[in-house]
Amino acid sequence: MTHMILCPYCHKNQAVVHQGGYEPISVGCESCGKRFVLAPERYGVAVYRIEDAPPCFTPDCLGAERAGSENGEEQRGAPGREAQPV
Ligand SMILES: [Zn+2]
Repeated sequence: MTHMILCPYCHKNQAVVHQGGYEPISVGCESCGKRFVLAPERYGVAVYRIEDAPPCFTPDCLGAERAGSENGEEQRGAPGREAQPV
């Protein structure tokens, strides 16, 4: 499903594809390149800056959940690619 949202950083209108359901996803802005969180809600979607997102909506938490369920088999050989110190 495609949502039209505004980037919380630069406020550019953009289309973000979400696979459906209520799982929050992290999105890279096409315009300013920053990452933010898109979280589907009952009526539409919510958009959060990373620093404003509820703890479990952040990419760190989402990534940790995913990695935890895969028994540590994730992403060998590309250390620190996604690391963004805040
Ligand atoms: Zn932006």
